[in-house]
Amino acid sequence: MKRLLVVAAAALSLVAQADTYPTSKPVTLVVPFTAGGPTDRVARDLAEAMRKPLGGATVVVDNAAGAGGSIGANKVAKAAPDGYTLLLHHIAMATMPTLVRNIPFKVDSDFEYLGMINDVPMTLIGKPGLPANNYKELSTWIQANKDKINLGNAGVGSASHLCGLLFQNAIQVDMTTVPYKGTAPAMTDLIGGQIDLMCDQTTNTTSQIEGKKVKAFAVTTNKRLTTPALKDLPTMQEAGLKGFEVTIWHGLYAPKGTPPDILAKLNGALKAALKDPEFIKKQEGLGAVVVTDKRVEPAEHKKFVAAEIAKWSPVIKAAGVYAD
Ligand code: ASP
Repeated sequence: MKRLLVVAAAALSLVAQADTYPTSKPVTLVVPFTAGGPTDRVARDLAEAMRKPLGGATVVVDNAAGAGGSIGANKVAKAAPDGYTLLLHHIAMATMPTLVRNIPFKVDSDFEYLGMINDVPMTLIGKPGLPANNYKELSTWIQANKDKINLGNAGVGSASHLCGLLFQNAIQVDMTTVPYKGTAPAMTDLIGGQIDLMCDQTTNTTSQIEGKKVKAFAVTTNKRLTTPALKDLPTMQEAGLKGFEVTIWHGLYAPKGTPPDILAKLNGALKAALKDPEFIKKQEGLGAVVVTDKRVEPAEHKKFVAAEIAKWSPVIKAAGVYAD
């Protein structure tokens, strides 16, 4: 009897929690990379856009950076499933399971999927002093400097790591990779000339390319982009790298076991944010495409991530690009 009462009280408290959510404290949106980088940029814009649909709740961004995005993901996988800790992550949710051995969480069973946010192309960029002004000249420079090239990335398992590995594999050149906790600090070093090259999302590179702080050589999508600062860049495929295509996408997650009412509220707030003209304008200006298709539904988001795992696993294995 006593046990029944305890169970009933717990159930009541969950209902009460869902009714009042999210008013008891700020919602923390965990970003698994450093502040000022591309994932952080999407998160800060989204946090602002979700505020109103969440009834004016405060949404704070927590940069739990490191280990290519697995520290932040693990933090959310182990957080209380109460809707107050969420994760914004990118394609690494689908590539980490193959790219990195022994990640401390399970992508398919440790999270509730809340919906996808956007698709973001990457760009291949170089330090401002690099003596090459287009991909052809870059290719010649790489061949002549093979042993001394430093390629920055956001750590093992990150999107820049994946793109850089595929690039090295495609051109059959091994570069020295320099890992950071996000591409914001890597960008600072690229601008300063401490590293030579990097692949990064347009949400971080567009303004640097526009301001001529870095040199841009190619985009990683199948088609050229329409963003003014990027529209003249060739695709990697046009540049001669057959089949090279990487598009980064971002999605929103909650810890497994978050109550269904809270998940529904969060999905509703995400959908509203994705229709917010301000959010759309900001994202489009950075070359990102806000999701309007069925991937905004949690079940479709989960299906999409599973399909991406199936898509990338053989590519990563064939390229022989694992990390421990
Ligand atoms: N662009 C980074 C990556 O390579 C992540 C970041 O700093 O947002 O995954």
